[in-house]
Amino acid sequence: MAELWSAALPLLRQQVGERNFVTWIEPIRCTSNTSGVELEVPNRFFQEWITRHFLNAIRSTLAAVAGEPCAVRTVINEGWSAPPLPPLPARREPAPPPARRTAKIGHLVAHYTFETFVVGDANQVAYQAAIAVAEAPGRRFNPLFLHGGVGLGKTHLANALAHELLKRNPRQRLASLSAESFMNSLITSLRQDQMAQFRDRFRHVDALILDDVQFLAGKERTQEEFFHTFNSLYGGGKQIVLTSDKAPAAIAGLEQRLKSRFEGGLIADIHPPTLAMRVEIVRQKAAALACSLPEEVAWLLARTAGASVRELEGALTRVLAAATLRGVAVTMELAQQALRPLARQGAPASVELVQEAVSRHFKISVADLKSHRRERSLTHARQLAMYLSRVVADASFPAIAEKFGGRDHSTVMHAVRVVEERRTGDPALADLIVSLEGSLRSRSAA
Ligand code: ADP
Ligand code: MG
Repeated sequence: MAELWSAALPLLRQQVGERNFVTWIEPIRCTSNTSGVELEVPNRFFQEWITRHFLNAIRSTLAAVAGEPCAVRTVINEGWSAPPLPPLPARREPAPPPARRTAKIGHLVAHYTFETFVVGDANQVAYQAAIAVAEAPGRRFNPLFLHGGVGLGKTHLANALAHELLKRNPRQRLASLSAESFMNSLITSLRQDQMAQFRDRFRHVDALILDDVQFLAGKERTQEEFFHTFNSLYGGGKQIVLTSDKAPAAIAGLEQRLKSRFEGGLIADIHPPTLAMRVEIVRQKAAALACSLPEEVAWLLARTAGASVRELEGALTRVLAAATLRGVAVTMELAQQALRPLARQGAPASVELVQEAVSRHFKISVADLKSHRRERSLTHARQLAMYLSRVVADASFPAIAEKFGGRDHSTVMHAVRVVEERRTGDPALADLIVSLEGSLRSRSAA
C-alpha cells in the first residue's frame, strides 16, 4: 500500500499544484488495513480541509494507480503534529507577545503615500476620509470602507493611511495586509493548532487595514474568524480600514452580519480619474522618475491609455522605456509609436459603434443595416459592418449575429469570409476598411 501511495504522489503533485502539495498532501501518512486505505492527518482542521478540497483527487488518483476503486478514509493521529511548512515565514517567527509593542503585520509600499497621491473630484471624498482617519484613528469613521474599480488607487490610499499612522505614532501596532494574506495566515494557524497565537496577533493591534475584502466572498471560515477579529478591535475602539472593488452590499457571498458591520462606518468610493487628473498623475509620475515629458505627451497618455491609473502608469513606462532604449528624449512621435500597440489592445469599439460608423458612411439607417432586406447596397454595407464588428470590436460570431437582427451566426461567418476575400482584389474597399478601422480604433481609445 505504501507503494501505491508513493506512485500516486507525483500525480497528485501535478494535479493540486506545488504549494497545495507541500502543504496538504506531503504530510499525510498512508496506511492500509483490510477495509482500505487510511490517510493519517494531524488534526481535525487538516482533516476537513483535505476532505473538502483534495479527497476526490486522492481517490481517483489512487484508483487510477491501483487499477481499481479504493476505499479511502482519513483518520486523525493526535500523536503527531504537521511538519513545518518550508515557504511560510509565519511559522518560523512566532507571534510576538502582545505586551511587546513591536507587532507589525504585513508590509507597505514605500512610495504609496499621501504626498504621491493625486487628488481630484474622483477621489476627493476617499482621500479626505483617509486623512481624517489618520488624524484621529478609531474615533471618527470607523470602519472606513474604501471601494472602487481595479487600479484606481485603493491600495495606494490604504498604504498612505498606514504610513501616516506610523509617522504620527511609530510605536503603533499596525496590521496592514490583504484579505488573502489574512486567510492564508488563518489557514496556517488552524493547520498548526495555533489559533490562540493567531487571535493574539490580530486582536491586539491598534489599527487593522484589510485590503481587497471582496476576496472573503464565499470563504465562510475566514469570514467567521474575521467577524470576531472585527468585533474585538471595534469594541476596543481600534481603527479598521477596509478596501474592496465593490460596495459592501454588492459583495455576493459576504455574510450579512459582516456587510452591516462594514456599512456601520463611512463608505467612500473612488471613481475613475477625470482627464485633468490623469494628466496630473502622468506629470507627477514622470517627475518622480526624473524624466521630462512634453506637455502634449502627457495629454496624449491621459487621453489614450486605459481607464485605470495602473494602465496609465503602464503606458507611461512604455513611453519612457522606448526613449531610454533608443537613448533619445521623449517626443510626441516616439510616444505615439510606443503607444500604438496599446491602442490596439485598448477597449474595443462596440458592435453598436461599428454599426453607426458604417451606416453613416453609406448614408443608410442602422435599422436598415440590421434589417433582413436584401438589396445589394444594403447587403454590401451589412457584410462590411459584420466584418468590422469581428475585427475591430472583437465580438463573437453569435454576438454579432444577435446584434444584426437575430440572424444565424453562420451568416456572419460567411460575411467575414466574403469581405476578407474581396478586400484583397478591391483597393477601394481595402482603403475604406483601413479608414473605418482607424477611426473606430481611435474612437474607442479616446
Ligand atoms: P487598486 O488597489 O485600487 O487596484 P492601486 O492602489 O494598486 O489600485 O493603484 C494602482 C496604481 O495607480 C498604483 O501604482 C498607484 O500608485 C497608482 N495610483 C492610483 N491612483 C492614484 C492617484 N490618485 N495618484 C497617484 N497614483 C495613483
Ligand atoms: Mg489594490
